[in-house]
Amino acid sequence: MQKVLIANRGEIALRIVRACRELGIKSLAVYSEADVESLHVQLADEAICIGGPTSADSYLKADRIISAAEIADVDAIHPGYGFLAENGDFAEQCESCKIKFIGPSSSAIRKMGDKAVAKETVRNAGVPIVDGSDGPISSEEEASETANRIGYPVIIKAVAGGGGRGMRVAHNDVSLRKEFHVARSEAEKAFGNGDVYIEKYIQNPRHIEFQILADSKGKTLHLGERDCSVQRRHQKLIEEAPSPFVSPELREKMGAAAIAATQAADYEGAGTIEFLVDENGDFYFLEMNTRIQVEHPVTEEVTGIDLIKQQIMVASGEPIGFDQDQISYNYHAIECRINAEDPSKNFIPSPGCIDLYYAPGGHGVRVDSHAYGGYIIPPYYDSMIGKLIAYGKDRETAIQRMYRALQEYLIRGVKTTIPLHTAILRDPDFRAGKATTSFMNDFMERNPKFD
Ligand code: ADP
Repeated sequence: MQKVLIANRGEIALRIVRACRELGIKSLAVYSEADVESLHVQLADEAICIGGPTSADSYLKADRIISAAEIADVDAIHPGYGFLAENGDFAEQCESCKIKFIGPSSSAIRKMGDKAVAKETVRNAGVPIVDGSDGPISSEEEASETANRIGYPVIIKAVAGGGGRGMRVAHNDVSLRKEFHVARSEAEKAFGNGDVYIEKYIQNPRHIEFQILADSKGKTLHLGERDCSVQRRHQKLIEEAPSPFVSPELREKMGAAAIAATQAADYEGAGTIEFLVDENGDFYFLEMNTRIQVEHPVTEEVTGIDLIKQQIMVASGEPIGFDQDQISYNYHAIECRINAEDPSKNFIPSPGCIDLYYAPGGHGVRVDSHAYGGYIIPPYYDSMIGKLIAYGKDRETAIQRMYRALQEYLIRGVKTTIPLHTAILRDPDFRAGKATTSFMNDFMERNPKFD
């Protein structure tokens, strides 16, 4: 592989530029008019502007991206995460233009992207799934019958959901009937598709996901788990690896299930199998993300394996150069998502100019960010400024290091989530490794200044 087009922006585009450079591969950035000054555009070997500032006018314009790929004569397209990363039609366009899509085939993306088909596929592979409706629910009556069969509480979820949006919990028939209509209209507004389905609501679960890597020769491995239970409104804030909850025996069981689920999808590349785990250690498949995840660095720091390079190598047809028993988890790593949001004003986005920027460093600290002093955060995209990762020989070391790095991180001119992360890192339940997905609700009650 000689040249890769990066169909993304922000920190992940920069991350891919860096991996390409280390592999001796040229990188081509495509960018919107709002991202002219962006670091990934400045650091890539070549750059082509593909449109106006909105995502719809640039990073989601598949035809312009394919044209840029053809003009610049690239071998492959790396989609990053978000935008077109899980778009089966885009992957298929790449396939028909003979440009390698760095990820799974369009058919694997479609299979795992449809939540109902994905659940059926992994169930047939013997992987436990959350009890729920077989497909979309079309009427209030059907919703009520399904919920009564499964037993309350239940969660209503959008078929086209993503990013934690479009979910409503119901504890009884009265609230279910109301929430069914609310969920449908929310889903219609957010995704242009009002279809919803119903699942058993697992009480106080942990969100534990397995990193997968599969090559084109049929080898499928897992690189251990990430615990992403610290979430606000079903969106991840902090991720860590290994999970303080997972024993070596549970890791082996869940890892085997994650591999079985992946193989059932006929999968190539990096991917993530997400599970919910209840307090007894029973686990249920939630969904598969058929792309690199925001939180991939914690796995990289724990295992020493560069996931973006592995994606590119696998896409070039190379076999994975190690086996399952050669993967070890020698470190503990934590990642805090640093967003340009005001955590004391209901997390309202805070775009604008970063007047002063100083990133932390030192032993065991990694910052994946496209920000710099003078950079203007555009209002058009998600509000992530960067990811702060701290790692060390054990959880205690990683926490202390993260706490110190958060105190060093200076970002002036915009509001950030740094004060929130600092408070979470001090929280006794978080420190004791007790966080489930309800942690943030309890934390907000204990810390009313964040709301
Ligand atoms: P999305 O695709 O929007 O990210 P997911 O299905 O991955 O949605 O779920 C996101 C989060 O929502 C989970 O990590 C969990 O906190 C919560 N959640 C989803 N389904 C359930 C469920 N059945 N029971 C309890 N919590 C759930």
